[in-house]
Amino acid sequence: MTDPQTVQDDVVVSLEYTVRLNDGSIVDSSVGREPLQFLQGHGQVIEGLEQEIHGMRVGETKKFVVTAARAYGERIPEAMEWVPRAAFPAGMDLEPGMGFRLQTASGESIVAYVREVLPDRVLMDFNHPLAGEDLHFEVTITGLRAATSEELAHGHVH
Ligand code: ZN
Repeated sequence: MTDPQTVQDDVVVSLEYTVRLNDGSIVDSSVGREPLQFLQGHGQVIEGLEQEIHGMRVGETKKFVVTAARAYGERIPEAMEWVPRAAFPAGMDLEPGMGFRLQTASGESIVAYVREVLPDRVLMDFNHPLAGEDLHFEVTITGLRAATSEELAHGHVH
């Protein structure tokens, strides 16, 4: 199979990226690490990113903004809950930003983040840490290749 020339669905994309918030602070970057690799069109990355890189070629760089609604959604202020400190292991050093995978009553797996720590209770935030944030991307496509049939069947890169 010949390698695809542009970013399109069912193609394995490698890209370097830096993500900044509205205030210019960097929240995530592949600089100094391996490029991000994913199967385009399978929801492995946020939809806004897939839409913006569609049609790009290897070596091409692009800057764009993915608004909160197309990234991790708006913040839901009610999606926070105080939990007794005793619900966590006694020796555990709880710090804001720490994530915990929890099981809901219906068996769903969700991640909650520590927002505030008081001596007797901990405020857990069920919003994604980037909810409500517009994401300013700078991406460079570093590689494109056809996905294997196995990768397409699984919906992810091997
Ligand atoms: Zn697999």
